[in-house]
Amino acid sequence: MDAIKGSLDQILLQTTASWAHIVAKYSPQKIEFVGTLLAQVLTFWLPSICYMLLEVVAPSFSERHKIQPAPKQPTPREIARCFMVVVQNQIIASILHLTLLSAASHAGLKSTYRIETSLPGPIEILRDVFLSLLMREALFYYSHRILHIPSLYIPIHKKHHRFTAPIALAAQFAHPIEHIFANTLPITLPPQLLGSHIVTFWIFLAYELVNTATVHSGYDFFWHKARAHDLHHEKFNLNYGSLGLLDWVHGTDKLKKHRTV
Ligand SMILES: [Zn+2]
Ligand SMILES: [Zn+2]
Repeated sequence: MDAIKGSLDQILLQTTASWAHIVAKYSPQKIEFVGTLLAQVLTFWLPSICYMLLEVVAPSFSERHKIQPAPKQPTPREIARCFMVVVQNQIIASILHLTLLSAASHAGLKSTYRIETSLPGPIEILRDVFLSLLMREALFYYSHRILHIPSLYIPIHKKHHRFTAPIALAAQFAHPIEHIFANTLPITLPPQLLGSHIVTFWIFLAYELVNTATVHSGYDFFWHKARAHDLHHEKFNLNYGSLGLLDWVHGTDKLKKHRTV
């Protein structure tokens, strides 16, 4: 037991020293941009590709766990288009991120996240992630519900609903306006409003990205985590939120035939 504690302390010491070195060596803007991009690659692209490769690597296992039947699954052509749209959205979001960072830098501001040589403690991480989860639920639920108003649904949100049987990558298959206002801001704003440490933001971002890839994966893994959002793609007028909390409050956790938004 003492040996495990000793090596954990050692890892923590090394991590803290490496982090302090990164903060001393690079500008806050560079740390924020590169770290956020790295989180996208490791916690969105990587799990999404793993989910999508399952069908090729283990076809019978994949078939047993798919929520919707084979005839409803997207064609290779649709998957290729999805890939291009997601890359395009990530380029747009990255350009916007760089523009904001450069504007803030010209105005004499550093990062809107806390970037300092020390790392956040576990209580602070848990508190900020918990509050960010609640804030993200509200921001995502209402922005998503607004996108279901017919005048916004047709020009913007219909694109995301093209995948009635979603795949992991389709989480970011969306109109650029939706990608910024319903996907990106509900995740990036809460930690900024809370003044969170950048590492806490990356932990929260990583959770949300793995979560969104999972709920769009089309698989029944992690105690059927994908079922609610999969049903939203299939039936449209229920399960708008992420945690299920606001769907329960507004009664949108059940299918209502005549609801339009
Ligand atoms: Zn979706
Ligand atoms: Zn929707």
